Amino acid sequence: MITINDTTLRDGEQSAGVAFTSEEKIAIAQALSDAGVPELEIGIPVMGEEERDVIRAIADLFLPSGLMVWGRMQADDLRAVAHCGADMVNLSIPVSDLQIKHKIRKDRAWVLDAIRRFVPEALDLRMEVCVGCEDASRADLDFLLQVAETVQESGGSRLRIADTLGVLDPFSTHELIRSLRSTVDLEIEMHAHNDLGLATANTLAAVKAGATHINTTVNGLGERAGNAPLEEAVMALHHLYGMDTGIDTQRFAQISHLVAQASGRPVPANKSIVGAAVFTHESGIHVDGLVKNRVNYQNFDPAEVGRSHHLVLGKHSGNKAVMRAYEDLGMPVEDWQAGPILARIRRYASQSKRTPGISELRKFYQEIAGLTA
Ligand code: MN
Repeated sequence: MITINDTTLRDGEQSAGVAFTSEEKIAIAQALSDAGVPELEIGIPVMGEEERDVIRAIADLFLPSGLMVWGRMQADDLRAVAHCGADMVNLSIPVSDLQIKHKIRKDRAWVLDAIRRFVPEALDLRMEVCVGCEDASRADLDFLLQVAETVQESGGSRLRIADTLGVLDPFSTHELIRSLRSTVDLEIEMHAHNDLGLATANTLAAVKAGATHINTTVNGLGERAGNAPLEEAVMALHHLYGMDTGIDTQRFAQISHLVAQASGRPVPANKSIVGAAVFTHESGIHVDGLVKNRVNYQNFDPAEVGRSHHLVLGKHSGNKAVMRAYEDLGMPVEDWQAGPILARIRRYASQSKRTPGISELRKFYQEIAGLTA
């Protein structure tokens, strides 16, 4: 069993220029929970009263999803976390020598001391404690294992392994998670970033190596190139590993749209699973194969994600597709008329960088078939 911890409302909102309104945060939390996402990371209490208000408003919905909030491993952040209504806190602390030295200007001993001090304090707030290992992928492995043991001894229940800069590949991810898995009994949560386009692949590798939790965001929103997209991780787990996440994938199209609107970050047309064009087929060979039997060119049924195949005419269409499309429009064309219409469609597509809509197809019909019939 793998548990999805979706951080659209925390790391997702951390994307440059993204700022959700309270109403949007509440709507996204509700939508994710309705889809069965078991855990949501919903914000950063130390940011201020307004952020705490929306966190409390989400808590007041009494959603079935567990609610996590994010803070740095320091007193101010922990104070802000109290009384927010969240069940879990992620306390983040740098664990790479680079960040320990150049960011927080401390040393390894200080990091271990902070864990020993703040984890019990967070437990006193009656919250489950996850220690977020920032820059874990660039940390010295022996020290990271020491961090993990210290978290376990201090009463933390989970370790978040943040590939903060997206420097891992699936093989290094697998090795890293396997080392942790064989050292501690903690829950292990993978937090991948997509700087090299590997966030989903690394997330799957972490699952294979024994991670119990994974962080995702809708549409892959998140710092820089973003996090592992919820829709990709879930569909890959379902289809490649036969792992049920308990999530209703049919809601992905709707949730993607909601987050795209609220974030002001449109989804690229070719974005896996939720992009506008990913179930649209034009090439004559593919369309012909799909019409004969969907299994010829179908990875998974788009209905699983609330969508459907869409056949269009364009530069790569064949005569058969033209005849079939015009038949559907109630304007049957003969074999000998299909060629000239296709030539017209190709000219339109290369000039307008679009596929023709119904009105254009009618116009071409009148221009060619209408005149010659
Ligand atoms: Mn992150």
